[in-house]
Parts: sequence; C-alpha cells; structure tokens
Amino acid sequence: MASITFIGAAGVVTGSKHLIETTAGRRVLLDCGMYQGEKDLEARNWTLPPVDPKTVDAVILSHGHLDHCGYLPALVQAGFKGPIHTTSATIDVASLVLYDSAHIQEYEAQRAAKHPNRGLHATPLYTHDDVDKVVAQFKPAEYGAMCDDIAGLRYRLSDAGHILGSAITELWFDQRKLTFTGDLGRYGRPLLNDPTPIAESDYVLAESTYGDRMHPASDPQVDLGKVINTAMARKGVLVIPSFAVGRTQELLYAIGQLQRDSSIPNVNVFVDSPMAISADAIMERHPEAMRFNPKARFGPGDESLGARNVKVTVQSADSIALNDIQSGAIILSASGMASGGRVLHHLRNRLPRANDTICFVGFQAPSTLGSQLEGGAKSVKILGVPVDVKANVIQIDGFSAHADRGELLRWFANFTGKPRTFLVHADPGAAQSLADAIGKKYGFTVTPAHAGERVEIV
Ligand SMILES: [Zn+2]
Repeated sequence: MASITFIGAAGVVTGSKHLIETTAGRRVLLDCGMYQGEKDLEARNWTLPPVDPKTVDAVILSHGHLDHCGYLPALVQAGFKGPIHTTSATIDVASLVLYDSAHIQEYEAQRAAKHPNRGLHATPLYTHDDVDKVVAQFKPAEYGAMCDDIAGLRYRLSDAGHILGSAITELWFDQRKLTFTGDLGRYGRPLLNDPTPIAESDYVLAESTYGDRMHPASDPQVDLGKVINTAMARKGVLVIPSFAVGRTQELLYAIGQLQRDSSIPNVNVFVDSPMAISADAIMERHPEAMRFNPKARFGPGDESLGARNVKVTVQSADSIALNDIQSGAIILSASGMASGGRVLHHLRNRLPRANDTICFVGFQAPSTLGSQLEGGAKSVKILGVPVDVKANVIQIDGFSAHADRGELLRWFANFTGKPRTFLVHADPGAAQSLADAIGKKYGFTVTPAHAGERVEIV
C-alpha cells in the first residue's frame, strides 16, 4: 500500500524530508533539507535518514532554502543517483546555497583543526565535489507544466510565492493526489507572486511555521525606515542578517523606495556576501518567478532592485575592511539566522559596540544565535568565542517570507473538498493550533505530523 513517512521537519521547523512510497515500490523524497538550530537537532544531520538513499528513485525539491535542500549533497554522497526535480529558478538558488554551505562546512572543519576544544566538526558533512554531483542531477520543470518523467508518477509545480523559484507540488500516484506546500509565501508582496491556489487534493502536506501567529499589520517598509533612522541617529552602523538570495533583494527594494521618498538619510548600503551578485543575476534571469521584471522596472541609477549607494563586497578583504566603518552605513550580510557565514564576523565586531544596531528580519529557529540575540542575551558565543552584547538588537517581523496563520487559512479556503491534511515544518504548538483552526473552519481532518510516523494512503 502507498504511504507517506515523515522523516524531517515533523514536530520541528527544519530538516524537511517526506518520503512517498507507491504500491509498486517507487520511492520519491519530497525535499531533502538540513536540520538547523539546537545542537542535538543539528547532530541529526550526521545520521543517515531511515531510508537507503540508493533505493530512492527521485527527489522533488520545493525551494532553495537550506532547511529544504541542504541535505542533498549528503544524500548523493550516500549513493542517491536519481533525478532532483525542481524549477529552474530553484536550481540556480539551490546551487548557490549549497556551494556556500559546503564552503562554510569546509571552513569550519579547518577551524576545528586549529581550535580542537571548540566543539566544531573536524570533517565537513559534505564538500564542493558533492555539490557538483547534486547540480548534475537537477532536472528543471516549468511552473504549471504536467510532468510524467518521474518514477512513473505525474507531478506539477506551481508558484508558492515564498522565495524565488519556490513551488507547491501536486503529485498523482495510486489513483490519489497529494499536495505538498513546501513553504508558503505571503499575499500582496512587492516582488513575489501570491501562493497559487489549489482546488482539489485527496491529501495535503502543509507547512505551519506561523500556524499560531499573525504578522504585524504595519507596513514592513515603514518599519524599516524607522529602524534605519533610529540606527543612524545613534551615530552607528546598522547590521541586518539576511539570506543573500531573496530577502536581501526585498530589503534593497524597500531601501530604494525609502531613498526615492527621501524617508531615510543618505547612507551607504553594503551587501556583504560573495553570493549577492549572483543572487541579483538570478532574479534578473527569472522574471517568470516574480511579480515584475526588475530590469524593465528601474531606470538609470538603479544599482540593485532600485536602490542607490549600494556596494557589494565579494572579496573577504573588503568584508574585513567594513569593520573600520564607525557610522552612517547599513550592512546586509548572510546568514539570516546568524547560524553561519560572514555575518558572524560582523556580529562579533559590532555586538560589543553600544552605538551599533542589529536588526533581524526573518524567522529565527530556536537556539540559533539569532534567536538568542532576539531573546535579549547579554553575552553569546560566536565561533566558540564569548562576545558581550551592547548593541541595540531589534526585529522587524513583516519581511517574513512565510504565510502567517491568517494567510495559511486563506490558502486552505481554496479547496473544494476536504483533503486529509498533515501539518509539518512547525513547532508542535504552532502545528496543533493551526490544525484546530482548519478543522473548525473547514471541517478537514488535520493532524500535526510526527517524526518517523508512516501514514498509509487509502
Ligand atoms: Zn523556506
């Protein structure tokens, strides 16, 4: 009998992996993400999933965030040789993200050799070479196209509006249809499309990250303007930890609007990421995944998504030179949860400075450095070194790429029937809260998924 097994992102937000097995014995993995956050959660990345990667026929990838694609190189290293189906925009985003992830892991392994008592891994989980193999296994699919080239199953990808290239998957097998949301985006955002409505499905596997919360009603662009003005009035530097692909471009778009309205002072904007130039280029290459074509929208003077005074620092020497800037600058640097990447060096440098401001703009998984700082920690450890927190630490929720409770309920309203629904990608409280709300409002049978649980498709 066909089944779904919840391997990752069940009861937690990260590590997205869901195994579909058909009656004929074909195996398709929906997403193959890394665990991020708490130490014992990240430790799960070092154990193979409870399915032999050699026996998986194919992977369908919802989008290029690390908690959805970050385990693919380890799967390939362990013998997975099948195709990885996803949109062409996600192929570009995930390739960038995975090479960066391999680089971070190789770098941390080098540091482990230098500092053996800091608890860092002495060998990388995977390397650049493993990512080369993943990239060779990617197979592009267009939004809206019915595809039948996957292990005898049919599938279709539609825009999820979460990040560039993100997709909702509809999968037909054993005379049943299953819909997997991946991560769902917001309604009415400036750059990305609304999540595509789905009318019919027998089964739904839906994310529920913000299942118990609403985003603030305020305009995030206005909030960002206030943060920039306050940070500049403190005569310091504003650091915004931000995923280089997508979120950074949304921030640049908002900064550009604020510059045009003269709502913020004339400041330099540093995009400190070796990925940023590629990320801009990816956005330009994929107007099919955006609300408008950015190259056609902005005229002369546009440096990045309509923003001015933007300097991209690619070389690490230029990144280090940013440490000398005392005031009048905004630094956008990855990663968004401060779980790795160049932003760690900025935080180590800026957190002890009382004039500086750190502003988080995305979801911070529990126990990440970002979550500790948001929680008001007065001292944190960065790459094993204790750092005092004297800078002003704040957050803006409105830039979240995830649908909130109201938006999730709005998306579920599109179904004409009552699909059997499982909620993934959330802490248990958020998933249960949304399950209760969907059950009450629409009469669906809804259950939060549990890790390791196998559900038969009847
Ligand atoms: Zn995501």
